[in-house]
Amino acid sequence: MNDCIFCKIAKGEIPCNKVYEDETVLAFYDLNPAAKVHVLVIPKEHIANILEINEDNSKVVAHIFEVIGKLAKELKLERGFRVVSNCNEYAGQSVFHLHFHLLGGEQLSLQMC
Ligand code: 5GP
Ligand code: ZN
Repeated sequence: MNDCIFCKIAKGEIPCNKVYEDETVLAFYDLNPAAKVHVLVIPKEHIANILEINEDNSKVVAHIFEVIGKLAKELKLERGFRVVSNCNEYAGQSVFHLHFHLLGGEQLSLQMC
């Protein structure tokens, strides 16, 4: 999508602090971290949010979770971490390109939200 900030990051048009990249997935540090370690994992293709996942694009989502597990180990988050994906208005989604927040590196709040 033309005006999507995460599409621009995926294409290298906007810089990011990259943690991982392959053909279909990119991971980078969040600009405004909500935990000691706060990484965003995104598909390179534009998918607005969870509501747009379907049988044609779900393979990349499975791959994202494989990447998240590897990153959690590489970033030494084995004591615990959280994966969050905000979907639409009530959840406060602010960037409408599917992304998974990987949060850890410290004791996280035990509240779900
Ligand atoms: P959401 O609120 O949609 O779940 O999460 C969007 C996240 O993207 C926020 O945590 C915000 O800090 C992060 N973010 C927004 N713009 C940028 C950017 O240009 N670069 C990086 N690294 N993170 C961004
Ligand atoms: Zn996008």
